[in-house]
Amino acid sequence: MSNFEITNPANGETLASISGDTPDSVRAKFERARAASAAWRATPLATRCAAIEKWSSLLSENIESLSKILSQEMGKPIGQARGEINANAGRVQFFLENVDKHMRMERRSDDSNTEEFVSYEPLGVIANISAWNFPYFVGTNVIVPALLTGNAVLYKPSEFTTLTGKEIERYMHQAGVPEDIFIGVYGKGDIGEALLKQDLDGGFFTGSYATGKKISEQLAGRLIPLQLELGGKDPIYVADDVDIESAAAGIADGAFYNNGQSCCSVERIYVNEAIADKFVASFVQSVKGMKVGDPLEEDTYIGPLTRKAQVDILKAQVADAQSKGAEIAFGGKPLEGNYFEPTVLTNVTNEMKVMREESFGPIIGIAVVSDDAEAISLMNDTEYGLTSGVFTKSRERAEGILSQLNSGSVYWNCCDRVSPNLPWSGRNNSGIGSTLGVEGITAFMKPKAWHMRAAG
Ligand code: NAD
Repeated sequence: MSNFEITNPANGETLASISGDTPDSVRAKFERARAASAAWRATPLATRCAAIEKWSSLLSENIESLSKILSQEMGKPIGQARGEINANAGRVQFFLENVDKHMRMERRSDDSNTEEFVSYEPLGVIANISAWNFPYFVGTNVIVPALLTGNAVLYKPSEFTTLTGKEIERYMHQAGVPEDIFIGVYGKGDIGEALLKQDLDGGFFTGSYATGKKISEQLAGRLIPLQLELGGKDPIYVADDVDIESAAAGIADGAFYNNGQSCCSVERIYVNEAIADKFVASFVQSVKGMKVGDPLEEDTYIGPLTRKAQVDILKAQVADAQSKGAEIAFGGKPLEGNYFEPTVLTNVTNEMKVMREESFGPIIGIAVVSDDAEAISLMNDTEYGLTSGVFTKSRERAEGILSQLNSGSVYWNCCDRVSPNLPWSGRNNSGIGSTLGVEGITAFMKPKAWHMRAAG
C-alpha cells in the first residue's frame, strides 16, 4: 500500500492517514471498469442524467461539511470553498442541458442516393488525473461529461485533496452511478503513472506543465486522446482610460482569490504609464484590505499555501526580482508555516522569474508600459497561453488588443473567470484540448460516419 497523510496546511496537524492504491489495485480497478463499461453505455441517457443531477444535489445538500473538508485539507477560505461548490452546480447544469443535443445522431447530407449520418459513441474507459486547487470544478469538467456520454471513469484526485476526492466518489455512488463505473484511485504521482499504464481509451489531466509533459512522454505512441489542462502566467493590461479604483480592485481579486492558486489567476500586470502611479497605489490599497488568517474564519480572504514547498518558490521569486531591480510595494516575506504575505512587486521586467514562471501564490508583479503595442508584445512573451485580458473603456480598443493575444481565453474588463458555456483551453505550455463548452462534451466521444445506401 502506498500510505500517505493528509495535513492541514493552516496548522500542520494530520487530518487523516490514507491507505492508497498500489499498481496491482489500480489494475484491478481498471479491469472492473472495463467489464462494467458496456452496461453503462447501454443505460438510457435519462438515467445517467438523473444520477448526475442527484450527485450535484447531494453536494449542495452537504455543502457545509464538504466546504469544511476542502478548507481544512487545502487551506481554501471557507467562503471560497462554499463558493466553489455552489458554482459547481451551475457547471453540472450546463452539461445536463446540453449533452443530449450533442450526442444525437445527425443527418449531414441527403443530396444523393447515399444518406450520410454521424453518430457519437463513448470513448470507453477513461482516466482523470486531477489537481487540488479547485477539486470540484476541475473534477466536474471531466467526470461529469465523461459519465453522461457513457464512459467509465477512473478518477485520481490530487493527493492534497484526497478527502474531497473520496467524498466526490461516495456521493457519486449514493446518487446511483455504479461502483464499477466511477472508481476513485488514491495516491501520489507514482499511482497516477500506474493508472496511465492501463489499457485506457483516453487520458484527461489537470495539473502542472512539468507533470503534463511527463504524461505526454509516457503516453507517446499510445493512440488515445490525451487532454492536458495546465498552468498559466496570465497577464492583464490596464489601459490609460480606466476607472482606476474599480480596475485595481477587480484585478487584485483576480490575482489573490484562492490565494493566487488558480490556473487563471492574474500573474502579471502591465499598466499604462499615464496612470501607473495611481494604479499601483489603488492596487496596494485593495491588497491591504485582504485579511490573512485561519481559512475556517468567515472573514479570511487569504489562507495558507496548500503546499509548503511553494513558500520557498515565492521567496526565491522575490529575491530574484529584487536582485534585478524590482521594488516591494507591499508584503514580500514568508509568514509562519505555509503562509506568505500578499506581495506586490513594482519595477519588474519580463526577465524576472516572477514574470515568467507560474507563481501559484499571493504575489504579483506590476510593470509599466508606454502604449498598447508594448503591452501586447510583453503579454505574448511567455511560454504559456491560458488567459489574458485588458481593462479599457473602449470595446473597439479591447477587441483590437484581444485579437492579437495568443491565449485560449481573453477578457475585457474582467479576469480569472471560467464559464461552462465556453471552451476552456490552453495554448503552448498551458495545454492541449478543451474542457467545458460543447467542445468539452464532444471530447469524450468518438464520431462514427454512416454512409447508407439502400439496395437498388
Ligand atoms: P501536479 O502536476 O503536481 O499534479 C497533478 C496531478 O498529477 C496530481 O493528481 C498528481 O498526483 C498527479 N501526478 C504527479 N506526477 C504524475 C505522473 N508522473 N504521472 C501521472 N500523474 C502524476 O499539479 P497540482 O499541483 O496538483 O496542480 C497545480 C497545477 O495545475 C498548476 O500549474 C495549475 O495552473 C494547474 N491547473 C490547471 C488548470 C486548467 O484548467 N488549465 C486547472 C487547475 C489547475
